[in-house]
Order: sequence, then C-alpha cells, then structure tokens
Amino acid sequence: EAFLARVAAHDGALNSFISRIPEMALAAADAADARIAAGERAPLLGIPYAHKDIFCTQGVRTTCASRMLGDWVAPYDATVHQRLNEAGAVLLGKTNMDEFAMGSSNENSAFGAVKNPWDHAAVPGGSSGGSAAAVAARLVPWATGTDTGGSIRQPAAYCGVTGIKPTYGRVSRFGMIAYASSLDQGGVLAPSAADCAIALRAMAGHDSRDSTSADQPVPDYAAELDRPLTGLRIGVPRQWFTDGLDATVAARIEAAIEILVQQGAVRVDIDLPDAELALAAYYLIAPAEASSNLSRFDGVRFGYRCAEPRDLMDLYERSRSEGFGAEVKRRILIGTYALSAGYYDAFYGRAQRARRQVSENFAAAFAQCDVIAGPVAPTPAFDLGAHASDPATMYLEDIYTIPVNLAGLPGMSVPVGFSGARPVGMQLIGAPFTEARLLNVAHRYQ
Ligand code: GLN
Repeated sequence: EAFLARVAAHDGALNSFISRIPEMALAAADAADARIAAGERAPLLGIPYAHKDIFCTQGVRTTCASRMLGDWVAPYDATVHQRLNEAGAVLLGKTNMDEFAMGSSNENSAFGAVKNPWDHAAVPGGSSGGSAAAVAARLVPWATGTDTGGSIRQPAAYCGVTGIKPTYGRVSRFGMIAYASSLDQGGVLAPSAADCAIALRAMAGHDSRDSTSADQPVPDYAAELDRPLTGLRIGVPRQWFTDGLDATVAARIEAAIEILVQQGAVRVDIDLPDAELALAAYYLIAPAEASSNLSRFDGVRFGYRCAEPRDLMDLYERSRSEGFGAEVKRRILIGTYALSAGYYDAFYGRAQRARRQVSENFAAAFAQCDVIAGPVAPTPAFDLGAHASDPATMYLEDIYTIPVNLAGLPGMSVPVGFSGARPVGMQLIGAPFTEARLLNVAHRYQ
C-alpha cells in the first residue's frame, strides 16, 4: 500500500508506468501474506516490484511501449515472470520504455517520454527508462530491465540507481519480447548491489524454453557481497578516458576507483581498443536481427490492425506504418537493407567479424585484470529533446555499453556521485559468469 501510494502521488509527473495494477497487486500481497503466515520464508516473498513492459504477463497487457501492442495481453508468462511469481514477488505494474527497446532516452515511447526524477528537464536514459525512474523515485523497491546495448546500465547511471546486465544466457529470454536476440539479456535495476543480488538470483537460471539459456548453477550472489577486495586487479581502459568523455564524469569514476584501491584492489591501466568498431557493428547487427524479429507484427495474427484494409498488402503496409514509431521503422529499414541479397557479407558479415574482434579484445584485457572499471556513458543525463532530431548522436551514447553486449559479458552500473543535479554511474565489466564478483565490488564500494 505504501508503494502504491507513492506511485499514485508521483507517477503523474514522471510517467514511469505504462500500466498500473493496484487491485491485482493488493491481491498478490494478500497471497504472499498467507504464505508468510503459513511459515514460508523467501527473500522476495511479499516484496513489490515492477516489470519493464517487455516481459509477457498473463492478465496484464504487454505493450513494449508500441502502438503495435497497445492492448495486447500475452497468453503466457515470461519465464522471468513465472519465477518471480513462484518467489512470491508482488507485481505493481509495467514500466515505460523506448518502443521495442530501441533508444537511449525513453523518448521513443508511444506512451510519452519519462522524466528523470532528479531533474525533470533531463531524460531518464533508455530503453529501461521507466524502470530506472521508478526505482530512483522509490515508487518500487526494484524493477526488471533488459539490455541489448546498454538499456539497463545507461538508465541506471542517469537515474542514480544500481543496474546489472548479466552474462548473455544467464536469464531466460523466453517471453521477453525480442529486439536483437543474440544480444538481448534481462536483468535488474535496484537501489543497491545487495538488492540486485537477491533479485537476480530469483530471475536467473537454465530454461529449456530458451535454447541460448546457460545450463550452469546460479550462485548465491548475496553470500559473496562482503568478500574483501585485496589483490583484485581493476583494469582501467586508457581508450575510454579520452576527449569524448565528460570531465566531471571522468573525475567521479577516478574517485570511485580510488576508493576500491583503498580497500586493497590494484589498479591496472589496460588497452581496450575498437569501441567505434563495436558501435558500428552493433548498429548493423541489432537492426538486422530486429528487422527479422519484428516481421511477426503483420496485422494478421496479433497486435495492431489498420481500419478497413483493401487487400492483404494494404493490411500489412498500413498496420505496420501506423503501428510502429519512427525509430523502429528506421531500424527495420537499415536491417532489411543490410540483410538484402548482395549486401549480406559486406554489412552483416563484416559486422560479425568486428564483433569477434571486440570479444578478443576483452579476452586479452581479462588476461591482465579481474574486473574492468570505466564510464557507462560519455555524459550525465542530457536534456529532453537534445538528440531528438539526430539519431546518430544519440547512438554515440552507447559507445561504452555496446561492446559488452557484443561480447556477451556481464556489466553493471554503480552510482558514484553527481554532476550538478544529475547522477553519474561507473561501469563494472567482468568475464563471463562473474556476476558475483561484480556485485561484490559494487557492494564494497557502496
Ligand atoms: N540504446 C541502444 C539502442 O538504442 C541500446 C538499447 C537496448 O539496450 N535495448 O539500441
């Protein structure tokens, strides 16, 4: 009731929710109370949360912030949702996002932009901007997010909350609406690493319904939080602290690394080249996969259908042109072009080779260090509308986050202070399946 009251009081100004479900939430809370009364104990039992509106939930619409799915109700639950239900977590609603998770500012939503709770003139980041804003404003104790190229870490940084994108395959993608399937990964946004540890453990694990899901045991992340940092090698990529990085952001991250060093960690300056290559590769691979994934929205089987189609082609054309927003259309066009006959190797093939290079660069870096620390984004949250007319400058936002997705690695965003009223985040990156280590480093800092 306390969290529902906060949502009712503050979300009018923020627009962080697409769907609020107070009656269902209170019923779920009563059910959790009954389980507690019967003696059951579990970390998330009775704890409220919100889902990014990309996770399928039976009984509550799943819109992906698109007109295309404006009133669509999934006939099944995402595995993540099923697990959280079993854990007794209480869903308060579904959060706003960039349409189909394409964006870095939450301005690409058919349900309107979200405001950054710290400064209403600023974007909350994207695409999980609603989850980040709702957690930052303490409308929910934690929320789910997804990260294909930075969509958990960058909004977490902009809103001053902690976010973790696990290793590709750690969290099931079943029932998580696909954007770029080889990059998409679900994760958590919460006030602290300790909170992330609890939520991630409940969400993660093998799922036979997702063929890319990792068949590895899920550690008890919370049990590792207090490990000392003595001797831990923190790699700081030289190429990431250059002219493109805002000076205040750089200073906050340097100060945070110093705090880790005071706890016994060892700073190692490393080389991590080719971030520009990663950005270019991502903006071919992700749209290519998106153009394929989004071909299912045809106005026939489900989702938006135009009024009074003349024939089948007219039905396809008008349903898709009326149902999708401008950024989604731009990416479908880029992706379809990149995959077209005669261009496949020149674009998609080359991008895949660049992707392999990026993975090899990380592997070389992890021969010299245990965890990489650096920026999440080049600047603090920018003003609403600042990049609205220039998608290419918006894409530059993702330069430090995208390489991590291309390599399938776990990454975190940890709040490390402010630039004026706007929060600054530090990124921590690990080798595959080292989530426990990242959460441990973040927790020791916090
Ligand atoms: N900002 C990136 C994009 O627009 C990343 C999005 C994401 O991680 N879903 O594609």
